[in-house]
Parts: sequence; C-alpha cells; structure tokens
Amino acid sequence: MHRPALARTRLAPSPTGALHLGNARTFLVNWALARQRGQGVLLRIEDLDTPRVRAGAAEATLDTLRWLGVDWDEGPVVQSHDLEPYRAAMRALAGAGLVYPSALTRGEAEAAASAPQEGVHEAAFPSSLRPPLCPRGFDDEGANWRLATPPGPVAFHDEFRGPQAVDPSRSVGDFAVWTKRGQPSYQLAVVVDDARQGVTHVVRGDDLVDSAGRQLILYRALALTPEPSYLHLPLVRGQDGKRLAKRHGDTRLESYRAAGVNAGRVVGLVASWCGLGPPRPMGALEFAAAFRLDKVPRQDIVFTREHHAWLVEKGWSGP
Ligand code: GLU
Repeated sequence: MHRPALARTRLAPSPTGALHLGNARTFLVNWALARQRGQGVLLRIEDLDTPRVRAGAAEATLDTLRWLGVDWDEGPVVQSHDLEPYRAAMRALAGAGLVYPSALTRGEAEAAASAPQEGVHEAAFPSSLRPPLCPRGFDDEGANWRLATPPGPVAFHDEFRGPQAVDPSRSVGDFAVWTKRGQPSYQLAVVVDDARQGVTHVVRGDDLVDSAGRQLILYRALALTPEPSYLHLPLVRGQDGKRLAKRHGDTRLESYRAAGVNAGRVVGLVASWCGLGPPRPMGALEFAAAFRLDKVPRQDIVFTREHHAWLVEKGWSGP
C-alpha cells in the first residue's frame, strides 16, 4: 500500500451540483489548514453516487476551485475509474464474515448508498434482521451488502469539536457498504480511498460527524492504519436555520462569478465567517496566512442578505 511520509488532506467534491458559498467555506478552510501545516493536498472526485451525478459538474467544480485560488498537489483522482480497490475491501470484509447481501427496495438502497444529506436519514437497520454470518466470498456484486455494525459507541477526537462519541449501531444499524448498482457505498469508498491515498487529515462539514463513526468501524474492520484525524466544521445555513440550499436564493459560486463578482470578495466573506473581522476582499493566499482555527466561531454560520449584498456590492434583490 502507498504510505507517504507526508501528512495529507483531500478535497473531495461530489459532482452532484454546483459549488455554493457553504462549499467555498469548507474547501477554503480545508485548503488553508493544509497549506499552513505543510500538508499535501489531493483532489478526489467522489462520483460513485451515480443517480445524483450531473454531467459537467466535475469540470465546473475544478474550474470554480481554481477561480477561488484553491490548488492541489495531486489529482484529480476519480473514484469511478477503478472499482477494484473497493472490491478487494469487500472480499476482505466478506472473508471475515462481517458483511452480508441484503434484499432491499430500490428506494431504501439508494438512500443508504448516498452521502448523507441533512434531513434524509437512513432508517436504522436492526441487527435482528441480520442473517447468520460466516466467512464467505464477495460473490454477488449485483446485490446490496450491509455491514454487521458492532454495538456501542465509537469514540474519537475531533480537532474542532473535541471528544466525540457516536453510535452507528443505534443511528443507522447495519449500514450499506455495497449497492446493487455494482458500486461501493459512500462510506466504504471514502475509507478505502482515504487509507490507500495516505489521507491523514479529514476536514469537512459537521453533517458528517455521524459518518465518521461508520468510517472508523470500517477502518477497524479492514485493519487499516493510521486512522485519520477528523475536523468537522459548523455548516453554513440560511436565515431559517436550514442548511444553505436553493430556497435561500442562488448562492452558487458560478452565478456570482458570472455576475462579475471577484473571487476575492467570496474569500473575504469566508474569512469574516472564520472570525477574521468584517469582510474585505482578499486572495486565497492571504486567507491561508491569516486563518486561525481558534478564531472560528463555534456556532453555525448564518448567510444573510447583507452578506449577499456585500458580495454583489448592491442592495438585495433576491427573494
Ligand atoms: N464527497 C462528499 C461531499 O461532497 C464529502 C465526503 C467527505 O468529505 O468525506 O459531501
């Protein structure tokens, strides 16, 4: 296995839509921390959630990241280009008697395989529905497979949130690791890739805290080391408290760019969200130099009309 000496993080966009201001915040913080700490940066396109993948979204994402001033040392690597590492992990899990094929409705399988979305929860799959387990082959790539989730909490240290304990056996139960589309689930793909690509630091939104528990269970089941250090950031929300989405107006970066907004304004707004004072235009490198994790507010960020007005330098004309 590839074992680089360097610490390394990854930028892992899913090409399921255009990047918005919330994504800009996560990617800029992830990138700034890595650059401050001398870590490598890998760009990974997470395109295995096939029903949600949109044509052209991966290229548009890379273009938008470059516009922001974010760069990377390796990649883009594209998950769908080689499924063999995920099959190998499934063979190991099946050989250890930790996974089983499970007949589910299409809807259940889709929901279970997608990267978690706020408000869309996989129903906890009870261990009582689990068949007797024994070592076996990974003999049906056209089936949904679930992991026999061990009972009890998974503890880990989050670099921003402090000590965490999540209990996937209660929140999701036996979760999907492979889908009948013939592809790994998000949870399995992320673990296999982070481990083989030498990712030591994972920085992302705190909607994925519970997923970290599932991912650590998989690290342990597959005997993968070292486990990464996790840092989960509060989300950017609209004034209604909901995660930033279309209902909050068009916050897509490509729309601001098309409207003539300078990337420095987006970076400046993100900097103010990170506790660096009132917004002022700045480049990504200046942001990376100024960023301080201990200044980042603990609470969610609320995207306001004033923020939008500052970006476009005019009064709010949105909804
Ligand atoms: N591709 C995932 C997303 O865009 C990120 C997964 C992760 O950072 O682990 O939500």
